[in-house]
Amino acid sequence: VWENCLSFIEDNITPQAYKTWFEPIKAVKLTDSALSIQVPSKFFYEWLEEHYVNLLKVSLTRELGEHAKLVYVIKMENTYGNKKPFTEKIPSANRMAVRSQEVDVPVKSRNPELKNPFIIPGIRNVKIESQLNPSYNFENFLEGDSNRLARSAGMAVANKPGGTSFNPLLIFGGVGLGKTHLAHAIGVNIKDNYPEKTVLYISAEKFTQQYIESVKKNNRNDFIHFYQIIDVLIVDDIQLLSGKAGTQDVFFHIFNHLHQNGKQVILTSDKAPVDMQDIEQRLLSRFKWGLSAELHQPDFETRVSIIKNKLYRDGVEMPEDIVEFLANNIKTNIRELEGAIISLIAHSSFNKKDITIDLAKAIVDNYVKNTKREVSIDYIQKVVSDYFQMDVETLQSKTRKRHIVQARQLAMFFAKKLTKASLASIGTQIGKRDHATVLHACKTVDNLSSTDKQFRKYVEDLGKKLTL
Ligand code: ADP
Ligand code: MG
Repeated sequence: VWENCLSFIEDNITPQAYKTWFEPIKAVKLTDSALSIQVPSKFFYEWLEEHYVNLLKVSLTRELGEHAKLVYVIKMENTYGNKKPFTEKIPSANRMAVRSQEVDVPVKSRNPELKNPFIIPGIRNVKIESQLNPSYNFENFLEGDSNRLARSAGMAVANKPGGTSFNPLLIFGGVGLGKTHLAHAIGVNIKDNYPEKTVLYISAEKFTQQYIESVKKNNRNDFIHFYQIIDVLIVDDIQLLSGKAGTQDVFFHIFNHLHQNGKQVILTSDKAPVDMQDIEQRLLSRFKWGLSAELHQPDFETRVSIIKNKLYRDGVEMPEDIVEFLANNIKTNIRELEGAIISLIAHSSFNKKDITIDLAKAIVDNYVKNTKREVSIDYIQKVVSDYFQMDVETLQSKTRKRHIVQARQLAMFFAKKLTKASLASIGTQIGKRDHATVLHACKTVDNLSSTDKQFRKYVEDLGKKLTL
């Protein structure tokens, strides 16, 4: 039946679209007038429903008659803690409008314990779900100069968790450079090598929430015990503990316990330990006990191989010059690179067009506006003075009026934060000041934004404007 539907569909759309959206589908079951098809992801399902629902309906009705029904089965690649992908059935919109929460499969947990694995009496009998995502593994974490150290340290740890000097292993680097992927890969590999070991992946955010919850419910001790029986603890985005004294304290105790017992701790952060703010010194010094490995921005070659690998896995072909165009234009964030590829494929199949360089340009333009536009010090001064409704000359002037001084200090602060310019050169460009003035400005902004609510809002607003 599905074969026939496919050939009907194939006749009605471009080969590219067919290849992208229909070849990956598997027919899994046929009962009476209902056909179940398996799709690779939720995104995929939504795309089909949005763009091809009529085509599907027509083709199916031709085969199965008026009462034909289509059931989607989403392959759960992203199901944490499950080796074998399980599937969740979704009735098709052919029969009813599918609301998005009904198809919000990946966040739904099959195992109610998973949601709150912490309030568990008799902990020792409990199997802890690792929360690992098996689709983040070493095989698809491509190696390049930018990640060689972190990647091989990760592999060393995976071979001998707790048995290397890389304890903790701290992986740090900018947004979208692969920290989460690598952290999962290490965990997944440990599970392969040592199935009996208890591995737990958790984001620092969730760790914090659970800690707070445990305090509310009066079972802080259960919370601590839970973590103390883990063999490999992976905490993602540890910088989010900044400013959270209670959580830091409990993490400190857990960390010590695990470390003393030769258990492995793996952490990720978007900053190097020296740059982490509002994290207790005793924790920071623990972070430095093991190895801190940085993920850098991938070089051109690595970007090309990441793109090609992604295309290969999705079964899509793309001309070499477009691959290079993408690699040349999206440099700072692998997640954005992947996003651009997905929208490129999606656009081309939706509009029944081939993937051309023009299409690629259009997509890159509106995809990475923010990363394409280098933030210059001039631009920062302009945005800051607009924000405070003054002109740039006023901002640069010698006046000591408080709000002007603050604006100037904010401009200096963002120049330091968002450009590579030295303190001295920032000073020169913002009203001919010296480097000490700029340094003082940065410190003042830091201080004020932690003590003064209104000022913090300035910093947040401007940060958003400048990076948008
Ligand atoms: P971070 O946690 O640093 O923000 P992620 O781990 O979420 O970044 O990575 C962003 C995306 O880039 C993910 O889809 C990931 O699979 C992909 N990615 C990052 N590094 C690599 C790599 N070396 N090879 C292949 N894919 C990568
Ligand atoms: Mg991450």
